[in-house]
Amino acid sequence: MARYRDANCKLCRREGEKLFLKGSRCYTDRCAFERRPVPPGQHGQRMRRKVSEYGLQLREKQKVRRLYGIMEKQFHHYFEIAERKKGITGENLLRLLETRLDNFVYRLGFAPSRKSARQLVRHGHLLINGKKTDIPSYLLRPKDVVKVCEKSKNLEIIHSALKDHSTGDQIPWLRLNKAALEGELLEYPERMDIPITANEQLIVELYSK
Ligand code: SF4
Repeated sequence: MARYRDANCKLCRREGEKLFLKGSRCYTDRCAFERRPVPPGQHGQRMRRKVSEYGLQLREKQKVRRLYGIMEKQFHHYFEIAERKKGITGENLLRLLETRLDNFVYRLGFAPSRKSARQLVRHGHLLINGKKTDIPSYLLRPKDVVKVCEKSKNLEIIHSALKDHSTGDQIPWLRLNKAALEGELLEYPERMDIPITANEQLIVELYSK
């Protein structure tokens, strides 16, 4: 499967905001964006030219895609699904991305980043409704329960992520039980309850050209 292999911090600098791709490091003064908040490359510090409408749409799409750690082809596939669903396409798209298993594990606070969450899933540490699942892109439905499997309950990465960065109990569309290391998707999230700053309408405009 295709994967992004360059430095993650370059992506934050490229998008001009923190995307929190590296877990704990993102919350310290070692964050590359805090130290050097300019685009990467030798021309990074030059004054930015006026950005075209297309440029704005492209940047917004790249930002959201990179935030969730998804390659172009799959991201476009999510857009096509979102377009076919009832409702507002941009919101449908974010809803799909939020209900991916790897994102949900991250939202629960079982991993410090989506990348770590994906690794936990791939290594078979999670159960959905009691069944082992190692597919990070698995799309959850309301009432699905995600649980850390018994043999993985002592994993340090899970406990330190829960201790340091968990915001799972502040998200209204999920139920987190820290003691049992499990969480439930209560309902599909409303846009206002998806904690990302993005103008998803720009993505819709880009793909609708
Ligand atoms: Fe982005 Fe985290 Fe790197 Fe900071 S440390 S630039 S937030 S990935």
